[in-house]
Amino acid sequence: MSVPATLDGTAADAAGLETLVRLLAGRGVVVLSGAGLSTESGIPDYRGATGSRRRRPPMTYQEFTGSEAARRRYWARSHAGWQAIAGAEPNAGHRAVEQLRRSGHVSAVITQNVDGLHRAAGTRTAVELHGGLHRVVCLECRRTSAREELDRRLEALNGGFRDADAVARPDGDAELPQELVDGFRVAPCRACGGVLKPDVVFFGESVPEPRVRRCYELVDAGQALVVLGSSLTVMSGLRFVRRAARAGTPVVIVNQGVTRGDELAAARIGRPLGAVLTEAARRSAEVRTCGWRASTYV
Ligand SMILES: [Zn+2]
Repeated sequence: MSVPATLDGTAADAAGLETLVRLLAGRGVVVLSGAGLSTESGIPDYRGATGSRRRRPPMTYQEFTGSEAARRRYWARSHAGWQAIAGAEPNAGHRAVEQLRRSGHVSAVITQNVDGLHRAAGTRTAVELHGGLHRVVCLECRRTSAREELDRRLEALNGGFRDADAVARPDGDAELPQELVDGFRVAPCRACGGVLKPDVVFFGESVPEPRVRRCYELVDAGQALVVLGSSLTVMSGLRFVRRAARAGTPVVIVNQGVTRGDELAAARIGRPLGAVLTEAARRSAEVRTCGWRASTYV
């Protein structure tokens, strides 16, 4: 029988935290974050604790680029859910990561999240592996622009859309009745009239090669890799864990639920991320203070 996980965690969680704190003390830790880090900010993870999909699968790049009807459906749903994303704020986990980065314990942050919350927490150097929802790109002229600007245009084109009962859902991923989708008006690129797409990597689309190379460099230079809130279901994140493990770089996984990288991890922590990271940051700061005092008096 397995030991039930509590807020205090199991013995394995406690051992995992010791390992995490020890690795942070060595500095140069690379963070790879996923959707689980943002759930405490109210942004739903589309996979549950078992790693299985909870909602319908996301739209693929091929679907999006393949038909106007698919793009209308995408933008209608996205417009309905945008306020939940735009209004979300960094949580204790994002703030602890930024604190650890400023103190030098964390050397780099790579995120699979497109919500911009690492940047909102002050981590301006976070590499957004899958892009960001705060930007929009034109598929014709490649010009990028702010989602905020598009939001104002979509609001003007679709007055009253967000007031519809079916739209007013809190989860940012509303299922919309077909008649609402059919009536939605999509905005073209202002510069060339081309198709606008959120500046994120869709399923079925590859992460740009220079961005992948940059992430490999960061992982190679790191002393450890810490995965935060990702089940590592997609290869785009799992490959960095494999790369680190192959190089003998220790991997720690903090995630509530199983992940595809578990067998490669030196330690695993299954407790809530905000609590774990806050504690890790507090203990890292203590170690730093003690170390400074020791060197002062020697
Ligand atoms: Zn354009």
